[in-house]
Amino acid sequence: MNDKSLSSRPAHSIVENDSQKPRPHVPKIILKPGRQESVLRKHPWIFSGALAHEDLPAENGGTVEVVDTHGKWLASAAFSPVSQIRARIWSFDKNEMIGPNFFKCQLQKAFDRRQHLRLSEASNAWRMVNAEADGLPGVVVDRYGDYLSCQFLSAGAELWKPVIVQKLVELYNPAGIYERSDSDVRMKEGLEPVKQVLYGAEPPELLNIHEHGVRYHVTLTQGHKTGFYLDQRENRKQISRICAKANVLNCFSYTGGFAMAAFNGGASHITNIDSSQDALDLLKQNALLNQIPEESLELIHGDVFHVLRKFRDQGRTFDVIILDPPKFIESVRQISQGSRGYKDINLLGFKLLTPGGTLATFSCSGHMSPELFQKIVADSALDAKRDAQILQWLSQATDHMVSLNFPESHYLKGLLCRVD
Ligand code: SAH
Repeated sequence: MNDKSLSSRPAHSIVENDSQKPRPHVPKIILKPGRQESVLRKHPWIFSGALAHEDLPAENGGTVEVVDTHGKWLASAAFSPVSQIRARIWSFDKNEMIGPNFFKCQLQKAFDRRQHLRLSEASNAWRMVNAEADGLPGVVVDRYGDYLSCQFLSAGAELWKPVIVQKLVELYNPAGIYERSDSDVRMKEGLEPVKQVLYGAEPPELLNIHEHGVRYHVTLTQGHKTGFYLDQRENRKQISRICAKANVLNCFSYTGGFAMAAFNGGASHITNIDSSQDALDLLKQNALLNQIPEESLELIHGDVFHVLRKFRDQGRTFDVIILDPPKFIESVRQISQGSRGYKDINLLGFKLLTPGGTLATFSCSGHMSPELFQKIVADSALDAKRDAQILQWLSQATDHMVSLNFPESHYLKGLLCRVD
């Protein structure tokens, strides 16, 4: 697979036509009165509490018809008997059969949606399929050079995995397809975590990708998510623009995505903090790959919450501070506890900024609304006694599509704030 096979339309034409085949008997789920509203607004999730009656399909993840209380057809969905999200909608079109041709069409649509983004000009790694937001609930496909790294996170995605893999091979002819379905969310669907080669060659232990003139080692088999934080691509570029001659503090550095970008933008020194020694080791290798002199980098293996306090006590300051923590909020119940975590690091971050310095702060918690995040950052600046302006709102990279009907697909929020 090369840029060409992704940037020009694949030669294969669609020959299978599932809709012309006789429609098999499909089990039904019947919604309670009034619960059809979100389906009519094309939201893809149906919660267990919305169901008045369910016919179980033969298989976990099998297709069901969703009907309203009067029996009116609403959607075709994948049924997940153990999940709170009891059904995830594949299609709102009654004439669309859920079969191989459906998946091929959805993959082609996801490809077409990204054509105008001209992703290959920036990188050779990007998200090709963003699950619900691309009409394929539970299916994530990321491209890293010649390899694809995938997640199948729902019962329906798991059931159709062989078909989806076959269609990915037909459309993109990758060197290999690796599965990274080792996310906790699979447990909620009654699925075991799994990591395996699904097609072709096993990816090399260290794969090389490039992005905005920077090179990165990525490990598809061990790295976070499908291997790398592709969702921060445009924010790395944005932050590199404010790093000329800057003394940068990169908190939750992982393998140095922001560190490499900051150096590329002319940073004079970058201090990185992460609790994972493996991540810091790979950061060091990334620095070598990009010929960053050793004296420009400081690597601290530690807890950001502690290290920031230590820096405060030592009176250390920085021109640019990046706060990109892991998800502090996993469920609605954790919102207030998680918010305290965000408040803590942002307050310390503001205190450590030189006058005229910039804080780049993120939350990847889907349960954190943009409004709440801005309030927490504002409260942090107030408590740190710093006057700050928002230079820019930041979000996930554009290939991590957000569906208008599925606001949950907007999870990454960021603020670039300059202090006086
Ligand atoms: N900014 C990174 C992604 C960060 S992921 C990028 O763009 O690539 C979150 C990172 O925070 C992980 O590497 C994890 O090891 C680290 N981490 C989690 N909790 C931490 C803590 N309390 N202190 C330091 N690092 C932490």
